[in-house]
Amino acid sequence: MRALVKLKAEPGIWLSDVAEPVIGANDVLVKVNKTAICGTDIHIYNWDDWAQQTIQVPTTIGHEFVGTIAATGSAVSNFRVGDRVSGEGHMTCGNCRNCRAGRRYLCRNTKGLGVNRDGCFAEYVSIPAANAFLLPANIADDVAAIMDPLGNAVHTALSFNMVGEDVLITGAGPVGIMAVAVAKRAGARHIVVTDVNDYRLSLARKMGASRAVNVKQDSLSSTMQELGMTEGFDVGLEMSGNPQALDELMHYMNHGGYVAILGIPPAGTAIDWNQVIFKGLIIKGIYGREIFETWYKMTSLLQSGLDVSSVITHRLPVAEYQQAFDIMRSGQSGKVILNWNA
Ligand code: NAD
Ligand code: ZN
Repeated sequence: MRALVKLKAEPGIWLSDVAEPVIGANDVLVKVNKTAICGTDIHIYNWDDWAQQTIQVPTTIGHEFVGTIAATGSAVSNFRVGDRVSGEGHMTCGNCRNCRAGRRYLCRNTKGLGVNRDGCFAEYVSIPAANAFLLPANIADDVAAIMDPLGNAVHTALSFNMVGEDVLITGAGPVGIMAVAVAKRAGARHIVVTDVNDYRLSLARKMGASRAVNVKQDSLSSTMQELGMTEGFDVGLEMSGNPQALDELMHYMNHGGYVAILGIPPAGTAIDWNQVIFKGLIIKGIYGREIFETWYKMTSLLQSGLDVSSVITHRLPVAEYQQAFDIMRSGQSGKVILNWNA
């Protein structure tokens, strides 16, 4: 079968012919229909320090997908051939305290699809049935293919009450852009997004941000003034992984505010603890999605009118994978979808 494989320990990705995955008793084989490119895939493509330390070559990459079940393992009873599914890319151990307590997203032994084992950028992918998520018919394939990052946005944004609150989101990457839509749906008053990339800020505006601020040119103080905000933000979502953005977010939080941090900063990034202590901030780190509570929540949100489709800016057949990766690497895109049936 065709697969996008990290074949060599150098920048790039290669469309290769590999063997179809073999499934175990508890697995399902998924015929992949559409996949989406994540920032993680770009790290692997670029072969940065993290990728060099994490990825064994050869590995088929990718973890955002939608497809249909082509075969089920002998012990699988809750899925049938033909079921349309997406899947949770975090494989949890099932044996640690949190797994056993039903908090799989806090598993201390998580393995990543397309990172620590062969992923979904392929015609077929094998995942444990416990990681598959059955999709209702009224969720379109394109949106189903991005439920993994949408889940990051939903998990982060729903961590704190937003009804009538002023929300600051630093970073208008795909996750930040989708978090705007979720925050709006969750009842926020003002939603201010920052970035240094005008293309992405305009996507955030389309998604319903009250203000999308390029922090290279404009200040958050003047934005707050324009909006009639006199104190600070009630809820802050760090979604850039940029140390300056994190610092700025802390600075513009109101006393007693809530901060959720999803963006992954470089090692050694400092936090101004005086902001945290004297303001009495409450900080929560976010990893992945709640398995499967976030998946049910986002399904219900989509079914009740949440529309994130405008974050998808490019759709290409898999044969044009190089162009797709180039677009994603340029920063001039939202989500990029690859079609495996085209
Ligand atoms: P992304 O890299 O596409 O988006 C980050 C955005 O931050 C970019 O648009 C960039 O221009 C912007 N940015 C850079 N400097 C900035 C600054 N000074 N102020 C404001 N914005 C700035 O990433 P994404 O896919 O949207 O994910 C967002 C972040 O979350 C990344 O750091 C990613 O690694 C991380 N992430 C974490 C998890 C998790 O489970 N914790 C899951 C997915 C993504
Ligand atoms: Zn575990």
